[in-house]
Amino acid sequence: MIAPRSQIGVLGGGQLGAFFTVAAKRLGYQVAVLDPDPQAPARRWADHFVCAAFEDPSGRESFLNGTQAVTYEWENIPADVVEAIEKQIPVRPGSRVLGLLQNRIHQKRFLSEHGFPVAPFRILKNPQELPGMVEDLGRPCICKAATAGYDGQGQWRLDHPEQVNALSELLPSLISKTPGAAGWVVEKRVPFVKELSVIVVRDEKAACHTYPVAENVHEDGVLRVSRVPALLDPAAAQKARLMAADTVAALEGVGVFCVEMFLLEDGGLLINEIAPRPHNSGHYTMDVCTVSQFEQQVRVLCGLPVLEARLLCPAVMINILGPEIRAVESFLGLSDLLSIPGIRLYHYQKEVMRNRRKMGHILLMETDTASIADHVQQVRGLLSAWKQDGP
Ligand code: AMP
Repeated sequence: MIAPRSQIGVLGGGQLGAFFTVAAKRLGYQVAVLDPDPQAPARRWADHFVCAAFEDPSGRESFLNGTQAVTYEWENIPADVVEAIEKQIPVRPGSRVLGLLQNRIHQKRFLSEHGFPVAPFRILKNPQELPGMVEDLGRPCICKAATAGYDGQGQWRLDHPEQVNALSELLPSLISKTPGAAGWVVEKRVPFVKELSVIVVRDEKAACHTYPVAENVHEDGVLRVSRVPALLDPAAAQKARLMAADTVAALEGVGVFCVEMFLLEDGGLLINEIAPRPHNSGHYTMDVCTVSQFEQQVRVLCGLPVLEARLLCPAVMINILGPEIRAVESFLGLSDLLSIPGIRLYHYQKEVMRNRRKMGHILLMETDTASIADHVQQVRGLLSAWKQDGP
């Protein structure tokens, strides 16, 4: 067990790293954060912030100085960096699981070889084979880069033959720009009725707990709104939680994971992807659960007991994307937002605003079932009105 007052570390200082840091500090830990961005959100809370590339050995040395165990907030941290750290101190989840999950080809293979349901897929190494694969799977398809994809980047929807031809011409140039490009996964686009996610925490002794199922809406590949509990019949929710726990158990994962799934019309579930870290769709756990996903991340890392979390009340999370942050930075917009009952605002204080970048989020606690839909509408209306230059 790692005791309070000891230093623990997180690779990556975005909002997920910041929430981890806050949770760890509340429990009495010192936190070291390594991030290449000097303005990383977690810097404000870190006891020891190191601004360096993950691959930079001297930055890593400074980050590890006095640190007793390490976790991460991003699945694209180079697995060999994690492996090097693991030779000195524990890293959770470990480099084997990280290496497997950060490559979509390995992840898909693992899931299908272990009997978990996934959308029909093919592995693409040679771009010339793309049209044949799409033909084989049947349109519409989606092509995803095996590595380094995030928030819908490195993904192409293939609805028409022209898109397939254009992509097979584009892909070779991407290979030459990214030496070592690992290839792509081509998937059949499935007609899901809902997107779901389940946060799973599993410790060293295989104690495993799942959170209530969240129901997610994505726009342009980015999570927009997430509600919990998902509107599902209890048997389907139970099935999703069991499948999520089984997946993490099959991986022998130790840490916090998010399993994203598609719910089909006939009630079937397909696993879309697994993240070896807390997730945006689990932010509700900070406000309406007895223990948050970030506290569980600290608990697993430090060898403390992990807990079954109880949901205290239903909630809806709305991401604040790009210029929508103007709504909370104007007195009028902020006053309107903060007048909504049951609202909680998280501002990530990112210096650079980019379109669709996650700048903050809003959590609406469902104090009154009848008005939640109105409140979601109200928040979305305010965010989009301020996206331009104010209403
Ligand atoms: P991913 O990066 O794999 O999570 O994909 C981003 C989003 O694209 C998902 O949340 C879905 O909305 C959509 N998507 C990905 N794969 C599929 C698929 N096989 N069928 C339908 N929609 C998909």
